Amino acid sequence: MTSEPTLQAYSVSDDEHAMVVFGYTPQHAARLGGSHFGLEAEDVITDRAPEFDEYAAAGHVTGMQYLAHGWWMTCTQCQREVSRDRADELATDIEVGLSDEAPMEPQEHAGHLYCSLACREADLAERARRIQARADAEQATLARFPGVTIVDVHSLHTTPHVVFQLPGTDGWTGQLGWTVGQDILTASPAAHEAYRTYQEALK
Ligand SMILES: [Zn+2]
Repeated sequence: MTSEPTLQAYSVSDDEHAMVVFGYTPQHAARLGGSHFGLEAEDVITDRAPEFDEYAAAGHVTGMQYLAHGWWMTCTQCQREVSRDRADELATDIEVGLSDEAPMEPQEHAGHLYCSLACREADLAERARRIQARADAEQATLARFPGVTIVDVHSLHTTPHVVFQLPGTDGWTGQLGWTVGQDILTASPAAHEAYRTYQEALK
């Protein structure tokens, strides 16, 4: 009688970072972990990590679970190194006045790990700001260029940049770029004709 192959937990490391993957064999785990780091299976270090086997059914380990097993993580917002040990050490240092660093109270939200509630709130506020900036940019584009289709909005920076498609066109020859509020449009030479046609139609 042969038993069903079971997924087991392996820590896979590229020397700098490590993660837990679930594989049927060490080679399988090395391939999975390697592809995550953009490396070949033979370029990562793979070790059995039985303490994570209990998460095999879930298929992944959450940030808080890594911390519970003594690993450290990076805060999504401030990039501070977060671990249980560091949190304890810091709590003591703060108590005796040896550190003025913000207290470390790890938390997780939507797959992101944060060192504190303050970082979580700052990150959520920034994400909300970007979503709003994106919506505003789309609205401004449609107000100025009626009938176009929004292709992409780059809203990481203060002034969003919108790529849109002229009506009745297909592909990049009908695409233009606009930094919201500016008088300049960017377009490939092939799109110039399409833009003239569009402007004529608006008159
Ligand atoms: Zn933080």
